[in-house]
Amino acid sequence: MSTPVVLISEKEIQVRVAELAAQISEDYADAGELVMVGVLKGAFVFLADLSRKLTIPRTIEFIAVSSYGSGSELTGAVRLVMDVRGSVEDKHVLIVEDIVDTGHTLKYLSGILESHRPASIRTAALVRKAERAEVEVSVDYLGFDIGNEWVVGYGLDNAEQNRTLPYIGVVEPGH
Ligand code: 5GP
Repeated sequence: MSTPVVLISEKEIQVRVAELAAQISEDYADAGELVMVGVLKGAFVFLADLSRKLTIPRTIEFIAVSSYGSGSELTGAVRLVMDVRGSVEDKHVLIVEDIVDTGHTLKYLSGILESHRPASIRTAALVRKAERAEVEVSVDYLGFDIGNEWVVGYGLDNAEQNRTLPYIGVVEPGH
């Protein structure tokens, strides 16, 4: 398997994640507790780094979805695999996603979490492919906009490979 080509370096990611954490800490300074809901599996690295840089009270939950289709041939249909364990009712929720591609997943997750009647919902995503958007979803805290290419690393995989790379890189689909 070939080594992915660096698209966003480890240093660039760390700088941007620190900026996002500072912004989130400022925005939620008076909110009490923030519940960060990480989307498995891809968001686990972003969630770990972002959550540890916050200066406000926060707790961690996870949610898991499965997309129909595979790789770059995803159909847009999404199914809930695991809901949050703790109650988020009347709490401030931040959904933490690895990547927003068509937007279907984030829109679906917002609906699921909305049904739990939180005090508020916002979204954070490390990467977004703006030109691929099919549905309108707002990303309140965005790391980077990228083009239409399959990216790996920093939690993102290709067939379960490359998730633990410290940078975001590009591989050919199917490799
Ligand atoms: P959506 O199209 O619903 O916004 O994104 C669906 C899911 O596809 C994302 O949550 C992510 O798991 C996956 N995905 C989309 N683009 C990429 C990519 O470039 N690399 C990786 N590893 N996953 C992606």
